[in-house]
Amino acid sequence: MKAMTWHGGANFTLDEVPDPEPTPGYVVVKIDTTGICGTDVHITQGLFPSEPPNILGHEGSGTIVAVGEGVSSERIGQRVVMNHSSHCFECWNCRNWNVSRCLVAPASTNGLYAEYVALDSRAAVELPEDLDIEVAAMTEPAACCLSGVEMLDIPYRATGLVIGAGIMGLFTAAFMKSHGVETLVVSEPVKVRREMAKQFGADILHDPNDVPLSEVIADITDHGQGFHVTAEAVGKPELVATCINSTKPRGQTLMIGVCPEGSPLPVDLYDMHFREIKLVGAFGRGNVFHRVPKELTKLNLQNVISGRYPLADLPDAITASAEGLGVKFAIKPND
Ligand SMILES: [Zn+2]
Ligand SMILES: [Zn+2]
Repeated sequence: MKAMTWHGGANFTLDEVPDPEPTPGYVVVKIDTTGICGTDVHITQGLFPSEPPNILGHEGSGTIVAVGEGVSSERIGQRVVMNHSSHCFECWNCRNWNVSRCLVAPASTNGLYAEYVALDSRAAVELPEDLDIEVAAMTEPAACCLSGVEMLDIPYRATGLVIGAGIMGLFTAAFMKSHGVETLVVSEPVKVRREMAKQFGADILHDPNDVPLSEVIADITDHGQGFHVTAEAVGKPELVATCINSTKPRGQTLMIGVCPEGSPLPVDLYDMHFREIKLVGAFGRGNVFHRVPKELTKLNLQNVISGRYPLADLPDAITASAEGLGVKFAIKPND
């Protein structure tokens, strides 16, 4: 089969590699769609740690084409989304937290920028009939957002703010709304992304190049004290600071965006202490992955995929994603 191998920096090669085998307990999936993740962009920019050579790609959907010993042959032909990482399903982290944090299994598996992948049958989650297979590839990023939002304690009639309307900000917005935020502001300078936040439930769209956020805070939050919950979904320390500074006393800030490794938090810690702000990190999918395909059927995901590329054009897709002009770019490995 064909696979794209990453060699560090922005260097990739399209390689012929052995077809994955359905070993006991495993299934082989023919990949329909693999989403380009902000993390992939950060890896090629040296902003997120990863060891080359490596096949990247962790947001994928497809169809089971072969099963190993111990897996029912009835699963052949099933449409699935991949909860993709190596895991044992037994250790404390796997059972209680996140299979991508398994304490036992090796950290990396073959990625999804390839025509096929073999994975543990338990990590191939069947899609609801009414979920489009291409849209289903967004289960992984959506799971990270749902897991993050569920770490917040959202009070009755809460106000909320999401900074950044890339795919992570959009899903965070949608789940904040479905988890009780009454008035939600989404702040985003790029028009196409900002407009898309409406379809994810945003009540107020904010363009930071147009009006200072402080005016929105003064207008819509109680005594101008700030929002009950805020989320940074870009990955810039100064925007995490903006979120903290826009949060009301005893409020909570969620860190959805991936800040560069080693970056400090540029906030006045006295102020955070004085106003009793809670800061919540949110890296991964927690243990909500299997619930997400159903959640996706409740959202309007029309036009969220801004571009589709064949496997060989992965570098172009990563560049398009880095330029931030669309919402989600996808690789179609078998087209
Ligand atoms: Zn991702
Ligand atoms: Zn484990």
